[in-house]
Amino acid sequence: MSAEILVELRRCCPPTTFLTTPELIAPYLVDERALFHGRALAVALPETTAAVSELMRFCYTREIPMVPQGGNTGYCGGATPDASGVAMIIALSRLNRIREIDPSSFTLTAEAGLTLADVQQAAARHQLLFPLSMGSEASCQIGGNLSTNAGGLAVLRYGMARDLVLGLEVVLPNGEIWDGLTALRKDNTGYDIKQLFLGAEGTLGVITAAVLKLYPASTQRETAWLAAVDLSAACALLGLARRLLNDCVTSFEYLSLAALELVLTQVPETRCPFAQVYAHHVLLEVSVSGESSDLRRGLLKLFEVAEREQLVLDAVLTETLAQRADLWRLREKIPAAERAAGGSIKHDVSVAIAGVAELVDRASRAVLAEFPAVRFSLYGHLGDGNLHFNILAPATVDALAFRARNAERISMLVHTQAAELNGSFSAEHGVGQLKRDLLAATKSPVALMLMRQIKQTLDPKGLMNPGKVL
Ligand SMILES: Cc1cc2nc3c(=O)[nH]c(=O)nc-3n(C[C@H](O)[C@H](O)[C@H](O)COP(=O)(O)OP(=O)(O)OC[C@H]3O[C@@H](n4cnc5c(N)ncnc54)[C@H](O)[C@@H]3O)c2cc1C
Repeated sequence: MSAEILVELRRCCPPTTFLTTPELIAPYLVDERALFHGRALAVALPETTAAVSELMRFCYTREIPMVPQGGNTGYCGGATPDASGVAMIIALSRLNRIREIDPSSFTLTAEAGLTLADVQQAAARHQLLFPLSMGSEASCQIGGNLSTNAGGLAVLRYGMARDLVLGLEVVLPNGEIWDGLTALRKDNTGYDIKQLFLGAEGTLGVITAAVLKLYPASTQRETAWLAAVDLSAACALLGLARRLLNDCVTSFEYLSLAALELVLTQVPETRCPFAQVYAHHVLLEVSVSGESSDLRRGLLKLFEVAEREQLVLDAVLTETLAQRADLWRLREKIPAAERAAGGSIKHDVSVAIAGVAELVDRASRAVLAEFPAVRFSLYGHLGDGNLHFNILAPATVDALAFRARNAERISMLVHTQAAELNGSFSAEHGVGQLKRDLLAATKSPVALMLMRQIKQTLDPKGLMNPGKVL
């Protein structure tokens, strides 16, 4: 970076550390999936909201583009700068304090740079639960979770990240601080401003802190693995489980046999829960707080009814925490297994739950008609109608070259089928730079106009995370 700007930056923003050497900034310049490589002026590591504000005021005045970055685990290249080398990366990892826990109000005020796991643990120390949970929780940050409106493994019961927020503190592109850190559950005083920043992927400002909703910690939890007759049966099982178990289903995750086999072959010390081979698997978890429920009895009843209604072929219930961990490992290791098998063309599609089986049928046929030798790795948050419809190159070809040549066409085929079923091309991973053109091509003109007007109002110079989302 220009030595003069660095001197000026250090003078204007004395508490902030700036990384400038190529070795130190390299990890911030590439996304989780290594799809995007960018360049940057520097990486700033502010430690307070005031420092973020000073830094952003400086950048705004000098018209330096700003790219917020959390744990850099996002799947759409949202935190990676472009190749111009003029942007300032604002990394939030040092803004990482718990400001307050209020057990009587069931709230926790967290700074943006805390990892999701830190937030969960802070709540747990008070016998409370922060229910957002996902495979990346040890490294993704709460600011990134809120900026991507992350989903994860307990949406069915507790909602997306957006549903877990009461208040926000945001630094606007010009450095002004919006203090919306309210813990009110009821506040109908005009527009709900925080909603603009949730899921905005850093294009409207930098989230610096949030008041998060907590829940009573679970006191009973049961985890089961079931083999469903087919995908429609798996969806019907979800409805049955919700009805029979008093709506206490926390997670309802689907794994196709192909996704499961990838894990079993690629990840050491993994084992199939069944001796027999089944095509459709469900990881089901139910939980309650308080002492009165007999969840185990409820689950056994569910197995009995589901078998009688010819929805399931087999089921196991875990007896120990280690067994539970083994089952979750099978689900959470799928992305790593895909990577080990040469990588996949990923899709994060959602439709109404009733339409999931039709989506899989139509999208599989559309893809196979043009690419008959590809391999599928289908899995996801079936309880939310959200499937990761991932596709691996044929076993006999170079995976990287195959993806480079065919990813665009294959994704088009999958997304077209999701759109025809009124679905979404991005259920939880966002838009970033990966799906920007898709957003432009598929959102209605009115929706796009409104999004552009909001962007223009909050970021008139277009300095916040340019090239992302819009
Ligand atoms: C193994 C694995 C499993 C995953 N599982 C899930 C899952 O189940 N569900 C799911 O939804 N996602 C999942 N993800 C994707 C990812 O972890 C989430 O999108 C997560 O919310 C990103 O958080 P982050 O801190 O890493 O954000 P980053 O990747 O750093 O940034 C994501 C976006 O948010 C912006 N941003 C980051 N921090 C801020 C801030 N403080 N203020 C303003 N903008 C900001 C960035 O500019 C970027 O646009 C998974 C990823 C991995 C690697």
